[in-house]
Amino acid sequence: MFRERIENLELSIRKISEKAGKQDDIVRFDIGQPSFDTPENVKQVAKQKLDLKQGYTSVKGIEELREQIVEEENLKQGIDIEEKNVMATTGGMGAIYAVFASMLGNDDTAVFNDPCWGPYKLISEVNGNQWEQIEYFEGDKLTEDAKETIRDAEIVVVNTPSNPTGRMLTEKQAKTIGQFCEQNNTFLISDEVYHRLSYDRTHFSPAAYTENSVIIGSVSKNHSMTGWRLGWIVGKEDHIDNFAKVARGATACPPHISQLASVEALKNDSHVEKTRSEYEDRRDLIVDRMEKLGWDFEMPEGAIYAFPEVGEDSWDFCMRMIEKGIAMVPGEPFGPESDQNVRICFGSTTKQEINKAFDILEEELEK
Ligand code: PMP
Repeated sequence: MFRERIENLELSIRKISEKAGKQDDIVRFDIGQPSFDTPENVKQVAKQKLDLKQGYTSVKGIEELREQIVEEENLKQGIDIEEKNVMATTGGMGAIYAVFASMLGNDDTAVFNDPCWGPYKLISEVNGNQWEQIEYFEGDKLTEDAKETIRDAEIVVVNTPSNPTGRMLTEKQAKTIGQFCEQNNTFLISDEVYHRLSYDRTHFSPAAYTENSVIIGSVSKNHSMTGWRLGWIVGKEDHIDNFAKVARGATACPPHISQLASVEALKNDSHVEKTRSEYEDRRDLIVDRMEKLGWDFEMPEGAIYAFPEVGEDSWDFCMRMIEKGIAMVPGEPFGPESDQNVRICFGSTTKQEINKAFDILEEELEK
């Protein structure tokens, strides 16, 4: 009755949230969402706008919203777009799905970095396309294996800042992978849903170096609005028209009220710097505490995650630590090289909670 690929899907990370949810006193590093509520000005506007008729909108979203998205995206270096290049979607996730479903048939391959955000694989399984995972860079250069894999694929996904490592592409890396895609005719999806949450470096989009690309954006993380389910795609006009066909078939349009709220979030966005600087403090704290534990990790330069190596099987470690009051996500589902890493989301916890969890970790790991 069900497609085999759907029946075979195992949403393994749910094991963590289910177990963590049953415990009272637990630090939830496993939840990948901001601890902040929807910004006050956005709530106020949304309440007022509820009095308007809430109807279907154009499949690509209301004009006011698309104008704001244009302003937001044009702040990025090398990006120069117009409204016709933008389509609002039901979350960044809806955006990625629309691109996959409109471009990838069953024999076509999407490539993801190792490690990468797990749902890229989930979307591939649901869509029924092929996927491969490989580490793209060694320093500023693409590895020979990555070049070969990307050359043979239809789509390559780049995510900067990255979930789960927090790494951001350097300007050189953005240029290298963008130009490589252009030369080899591989379509590039640049997932930039965390682009305003950066701590140490400027954000560079690889999409600035190839027209054969889209940028994925969202209000979820930058604006603390995960539940509103509002994202977008930036791309060539004729590409957008094809993505819109999938979106029409899936959701008709993003929720009208979420579009209206997102106009306000993008227009009056002083909340972004407040949350970014709080996340930076948390990042500094967590880096300090991870160093004291002697863990190896890449510096989280952006986003809201750290991805340290813990020196043992990630599932065993996470299951054991839940019992001690700390929920983390095992690295294994993020990629074949990450079975001894754990993902720690510092976006969803306070500094007190971070200290509490690391006090426990210090005690447990010294035993
Ligand atoms: N891309 C990445 C890398 C993410 O981490 C997320 C959210 N966890 C998304 C896309 C999708 O975000 P949303 O659908 O909430 O906009």
